[in-house]
Amino acid sequence: MVMNIEKLVRKNIWKLIPYQSARRIGGKGDVWLNANECPVPNYFQLNHMMLNRYPECQPEALLSCYSSYTGINKENILITRGSDEAIELLIKTFCEPNLDKIVFCPPTYDMYSISAYILGIESHRVPLLNLSWQLDVNSIIKCINDSKLIYICNPNNPTGNLINIEDIIILLKASLGRALVIVDEAYIEFSPINSLTNLINIYPNLVILRTLSKAFALAGLRCGFILANVNVVDVLLKVINPYPISIPTSSIAIQCLSKKNISDMRSKVFNLNLNRLWFMNQLKLMNCCIDHVFCSVANYILIRFFNSKKVFNMLSKEGIIVRDQGSKLYLNNCIRISIGTSKECIKVIHIIRKINNLYAG
Ligand SMILES: *Cc1c(COP(=O)(O)O)cnc(C)c1O
Repeated sequence: MVMNIEKLVRKNIWKLIPYQSARRIGGKGDVWLNANECPVPNYFQLNHMMLNRYPECQPEALLSCYSSYTGINKENILITRGSDEAIELLIKTFCEPNLDKIVFCPPTYDMYSISAYILGIESHRVPLLNLSWQLDVNSIIKCINDSKLIYICNPNNPTGNLINIEDIIILLKASLGRALVIVDEAYIEFSPINSLTNLINIYPNLVILRTLSKAFALAGLRCGFILANVNVVDVLLKVINPYPISIPTSSIAIQCLSKKNISDMRSKVFNLNLNRLWFMNQLKLMNCCIDHVFCSVANYILIRFFNSKKVFNMLSKEGIIVRDQGSKLYLNNCIRISIGTSKECIKVIHIIRKINNLYAG
């Protein structure tokens, strides 16, 4: 028996090019610098637990821990299955199909546009200003009348820079009552003074996305958070799956938010930030193969090479997997490299130096 699946599937899904996750792209090697993960793991234990009962939709104990970590009240927090679920949940909850759009600002994280596309919601693409990577505020404001959600990634992935807070505040004011401004703070632990959490109580249309996947070294856990006005949290609670957070997930998330583990996280972040500075300074010496090194406050650096294919392949031959960004808007010949351990950074620099010497000599 044969079945033509194309006749059954939604037309947009048939045409969909799925998110090219680091795991989906794959690659052979033992140095993984392609997904902005923390290079060193924490070790957690699960005690004997009974799993015959469903979990709480929003595990109270985890809400309490995240509330003390952020200083944000529990009623302003929603726990999600990673921030990827949060990105989608907001679109499902706020965007009317064929009517409301989202705004996103490339080059940025791909899941804003992909989630919207899957849900049949159109996007306004308002590119970041080329090279400063700041918001084109006036063009975004022009999109507000038919948009419900404005996605801003801060620090931005893959460019690594912070978005000017003054610009975000202009957008919050301009869109009040018409759209939500969603600030994705997946990497904010690497630059914590730039978090906008203290604005949650001032701007009811500000929504902040957080995750345990990056600085907390728990990408495998799948746990994220939405910080927002109570009214926003309450409508999201109507839409979220009944049991998004498994009991093992909340148990480990609670452990990682202990005083000791938060201070461990901070010292890892401190070391990774030092590694990034060292890495950046080394790269700046190699101007025969590198066109530009973009400033970063996060755990990755975007680099424009003269010939990124060659660099990618040389790294790959040595078992180092990095992220090609060349197909993204304005990012021709760019590669994003996650900051690894000191040893991993040294290994990468050795190889890039060899390439640089080839050009120099
Ligand atoms: C990694 C990443 C995420 C995904 O986080 P999860 O919590 O693992 O789903 C979200 N936003 C940005 C900008 C990211 O880089």
